[in-house]
Amino acid sequence: MQPTIVTYPGGSISELARVTNLYDGENGVQVVVTDVTPFHPLDPWWPDQPSDRGIINVIGQAWVIDGAVLVGTKQDRSEIRIGDPKGVKRSDPSWSWSVGHVVFGSPTGKELINAKCRLEVDPEYRRAIAVGHTACHIAALALNERLETYWTKSIVKDSFGRNDFDRAAIVFSRIEEFGSIDRYRIGKGVRKAGFSSDRFWSDCDTLASEIEVGSNQILNEIASIDVAPDHTPFHARRNWVAVHKNARLQIPCGGVHVRNPREIANMNIKLNRQKDQTEFVMETRAAAELIGGVLSIRR
Ligand SMILES: [Zn+2]
Repeated sequence: MQPTIVTYPGGSISELARVTNLYDGENGVQVVVTDVTPFHPLDPWWPDQPSDRGIINVIGQAWVIDGAVLVGTKQDRSEIRIGDPKGVKRSDPSWSWSVGHVVFGSPTGKELINAKCRLEVDPEYRRAIAVGHTACHIAALALNERLETYWTKSIVKDSFGRNDFDRAAIVFSRIEEFGSIDRYRIGKGVRKAGFSSDRFWSDCDTLASEIEVGSNQILNEIASIDVAPDHTPFHARRNWVAVHKNARLQIPCGGVHVRNPREIANMNIKLNRQKDQTEFVMETRAAAELIGGVLSIRR
């Protein structure tokens, strides 16, 4: 099966598409696979960003799309996986992955195969998630900046040339509407790599406000944001690229982002240490700005 071409990296929220397959899911759900889609599906290998939701218009009717999932087909067609790649590596070349749209109550008839359809993403929800995801990346860069002095050795660098604490220590990330929750573990590996954990834990409660200042500074200095490549299968490796002064900041990412950083008015950061003193959570909140007459929500 030809993998679905995805257009959300470039910011698309609407596409004319062709239905290529149809599967029955559980509880009367149908999974409609298309040749192209603007819907960001849940990535089951790293489920940080929730799926888009929206509407499919097909054969003169509209149905609500509750979410999008990956549909895997083994090369020899011996197996189909819907939203569940358990035991299959992301890089396994013997599987091809398409995007399926989860629809309640659509006709089960195979007349849908090859039908033209229009897929429309809920624009308000998409924007809220894009604001949250962009803020998450900016906060990660500001976290690296603030924690740079806690390293006694050099590790893999971020785009600013600082030790990439975010990459080294992150264990969990959830993008939300207008924010994100990221959990970091300062375990043996990070300590061995040269991170001064005792000093960090004694300072931990005072760092959030400084990371917040750093985040807002980076936000204000970024001129534009892009996710590339666009119009490729889901599995293409993508980068978040932000033009910052004369540099290009890059973070590997397949999610959705605001293209204009001015859509974020400001950011707020909280750090919460976890009970066992080996993990902390960074909570990032972003206030959306009113751009082009689109009503934004401040939280
Ligand atoms: Zn990302």
